[in-house]
Amino acid sequence: MSKLVHIVQANKKFLTPEGGSIVALNNVSLEVNTKEFITLLGPSGCGKTTLLRSISGFEKLDSGQIMIDSKEMTNFQPYDRPVNTVFQNYALFPHINVENNIGYGLDVTGCEKKERNQRVSETLELVGLLGYENRKPSQLSGGQQQRVALARAIINRPKILLLDEPLSALDRKLRQSMQLELKNIQNELGIAFIFVTHDQEEALTMSDKIIIMNEGKIIQSGTPIEIYDNPTSEFTAQFIGESNFFKGKISEIGDILNIDTESGNKVYVKKNEKINFSKDQNIIILVRPEELFLNSNSDITNYFIECVVKQVVFLGTDFKILCDIGNGKIIHCVIRDSLRKEINKCNIGSKIKLFYDPSTLRILKDE
Ligand code: ATP
Repeated sequence: MSKLVHIVQANKKFLTPEGGSIVALNNVSLEVNTKEFITLLGPSGCGKTTLLRSISGFEKLDSGQIMIDSKEMTNFQPYDRPVNTVFQNYALFPHINVENNIGYGLDVTGCEKKERNQRVSETLELVGLLGYENRKPSQLSGGQQQRVALARAIINRPKILLLDEPLSALDRKLRQSMQLELKNIQNELGIAFIFVTHDQEEALTMSDKIIIMNEGKIIQSGTPIEIYDNPTSEFTAQFIGESNFFKGKISEIGDILNIDTESGNKVYVKKNEKINFSKDQNIIILVRPEELFLNSNSDITNYFIECVVKQVVFLGTDFKILCDIGNGKIIHCVIRDSLRKEINKCNIGSKIKLFYDPSTLRILKDE
């Protein structure tokens, strides 16, 4: 894979009507490879759309560079960049039919009619809309409108497709199936997708690489598995997957670190050889809910947290159990439905032990 987009130290501030200013991009550097599916993930206002608009040329950076195919893009107008965008609201032309909505980009460039028609029908097939050519957007479902918007954006064969929360208007079922379809279409087209969302499930399902953003900065980037398994901050851990955090102090250092937590428990974590620890150091421990067990085996029988069951919630294939571990601190674990016998013993108010493997707990910096 070769480098297609290279963003170097992009900065962008907006002046607000109240007379202040907002930093939307703070020294953002990023590389996107050909054929890569990148997701920008972060809370509302963290700068995702500003970054996307800067790549497409609708926003001008205060400083920094955006290069596409090794060409500096500053002096390129949006229509001269090898980029197209699919917007959240689809932005379809309401008065013209599906075929002409999709063909519009070719019509304005004066594409020869035979080629135009062939490319429209190829694109209709790719997005699964053959047979819908004569419908107006108002005669389509949300998912079908979304496909028209996608088809319209890819018919010019851009090198990069930017997608700004394109699935957010769809219901959950449709969103899930569109996630897989989008990924298939991207594979088939062999172009780079830069996708904006604040939905972690979307990011995990589709991305080759996830870029976590907050307050205009990139906090962490990596493959979905890297980000899920090794979040480097509480912020990332909270954003991807469900998490329990323990704040505490290191009271003993060996192969296993002993941590005295603020909630009054002892927690044991296998030492990470790459990090230096000192006694009395403050740390945060991340425990994923699926890494807490109702049963122990001989390896982990000494490692457990005692707690009181507060609530048991049925999630379909799993149960979520919320437990008080002391000082009002609640943690949760997720137990497979197949362990229903064990789960049935978890009456509200009963004392239970939640076992864990010290090597699966992660240490985060105390921020
Ligand atoms: P969302 O998920 O809600 O779409 P986002 O991560 O895409 O948010 P941006 O739209 O990039 O965030 O906005 C980043 C910050 O810049 C926000 O604080 C926003 O209020 C501010 N901002 C964006 N555009 C402008 C503008 N034209 N004028 C003033 N402030 C702006």
